Amino acid sequence: TSKQLVVSEKLAAVGEIAAGIAHEINNPVQVIQGNLDVVRVQLGDEADQIKTELRLIDEQTHSIFLIVNKLLQFTRPDEYAEGSEEHRPADIITDTLPLVQHLLSKGHIDLSLELESIKAISINRTELQQILINLMVNAIHAMPDGGALTVGALDADRDGKNGVLVFVKDTGVGMAPELLTRIFDPFFTTKQGEGTGLGLSITRKLVERYDGEIEADSVVGHGTEFRVWFPAAVS
Ligand code: ADP
Repeated sequence: TSKQLVVSEKLAAVGEIAAGIAHEINNPVQVIQGNLDVVRVQLGDEADQIKTELRLIDEQTHSIFLIVNKLLQFTRPDEYAEGSEEHRPADIITDTLPLVQHLLSKGHIDLSLELESIKAISINRTELQQILINLMVNAIHAMPDGGALTVGALDADRDGKNGVLVFVKDTGVGMAPELLTRIFDPFFTTKQGEGTGLGLSITRKLVERYDGEIEADSVVGHGTEFRVWFPAAVS
């Protein structure tokens, strides 16, 4: 509809402005971090007395850097596109788990794996990891009192094409249908003050870059399942 068109044009404009601002923010952030190292060296032993404060400045500037990079990645995805190689999603899932392990133990979350696929897909490894991390971290956030996380990969055909279906399923808070329709919108978040609302829109862009499809099913109070399908590599 024309209303949707206006909304998406507005989002594109917001994205352009955001990208411009992000670039501008990156420079001073780098200057701050660079000088922080210099100050630390100059202080020598005295640096120990303000260790906590220095660490906080370091962490917080790094966090600005990460947010800005997320923004840039979202608004200028093609500049960030990397080369693809053939990977088995099941292997990448296994390699990615250590990155979220601390969140699982801290959040009292039981992990089950259903790695049954053997087909390879053509994808950039870091980008597939990013997709998986975005989905797993959201799933973990959705289970503040603990729960079960299931991550899997199955060989699955779609529209007559061979492919691999990756899924991330949680037993968390779930989403009402009105919410579910908005989750892929850039900047849409229910995590006031903590979310950027960019995770799923970046995830969808990445999935579509590899001719994949992403969808979600959710039941309030029961949990959510995200499914990502990729065409198999032709070899
Ligand atoms: P962010 O995590 O920064 O809010 P996302 O784009 O990743 O941004 O997610 C958008 C919104 O979708 C979240 O704020 C949350 O409301 C909802 N959401 C995403 N994944 C889940 C999930 N597994 N369970 C419940 N809600 C979810």
